[in-house]
Amino acid sequence: MTTWTAHTAEPIVLTSDSGIDRAAHHRLDEAWLAAAWSHPTTRVFVVSGGQALVDDTPDGRTELVMTPAFEAPPTETHRYFLGTDAEGVRYFAVQKDSLPGRIDQSARPAGLREVGALLSAQDAGLLAHAVALENWQRMHRFCSRCGERTMIEAAGHVRRCPACGAEHYPRTDPAVIMLVTDDQDRALLGRQMHWPEGRFSTLAGFVEPGESIEQAVVREVAEEVGVAIAEVEYVGSQPWPFPSSLMLGFMARAGSSEIQVDGEEIHEARWFSREELRAAFASGEVLPPSGISIAAHLVTRWYGEPLPQA
Ligand SMILES: [Zn+2]
Repeated sequence: MTTWTAHTAEPIVLTSDSGIDRAAHHRLDEAWLAAAWSHPTTRVFVVSGGQALVDDTPDGRTELVMTPAFEAPPTETHRYFLGTDAEGVRYFAVQKDSLPGRIDQSARPAGLREVGALLSAQDAGLLAHAVALENWQRMHRFCSRCGERTMIEAAGHVRRCPACGAEHYPRTDPAVIMLVTDDQDRALLGRQMHWPEGRFSTLAGFVEPGESIEQAVVREVAEEVGVAIAEVEYVGSQPWPFPSSLMLGFMARAGSSEIQVDGEEIHEARWFSREELRAAFASGEVLPPSGISIAAHLVTRWYGEPLPQA
């Protein structure tokens, strides 16, 4: 098993080892895929609109609802091979326009944002993979070179254009997310225009063409709050398939403290000492970053203790 969180103080949700071998070499082997699909131990779940069915176990865990292939809704093409686990169980996701009827009372539709932190690392990894493929499949039905409708290949991981022969692969858009600190070890948190009152978080932005991720950190911070960055430290990454991002997390040391918000993306930004942030959480003036985002991980890393629950 690979460990790739050496840089992080604690595992970032969706980043810990899912234990799934994607076994990409099987994706073009139709005979192997057909045999894997019909094997009695194979597990299948349906993904639709970024959601899958989840259920609570008697011992209080949350898990993906999976069935053998013969109970899965039929599909010829939208059948995605996700990989195998250590026991040799094969996993597939089926993309449909709607989720199947609930299997029992407690099974419910849920997205990765809601249940990513509740699921096991294996289930969260499978769902992230399936949701990322679904998002890409839905938005890339036509060839970006010639405009023809494309065909799904490689068990959901390639779309091929029958007219010009172009192969299209799932895309991932790198985005940087950074907690900026100053020489007094205060953290800079910002509030975006459309966020509710009191919600503050780390700054973030997309990497632009022809730019390194470190340059993107420096540029985004300068654009959004007018602060010059002197030092950038990479912390870790997180798949963020909403719809196709890869979040690259950083700690960034500011070379200046004066804030000048852009007034477009960022409405308000402030420096917080730990004591100020603790007091702001307690009074309700600032809502703790919640959910599974790497933002919460970065703030916690600096804060030095678990954040209060929103
Ligand atoms: Zn084409």
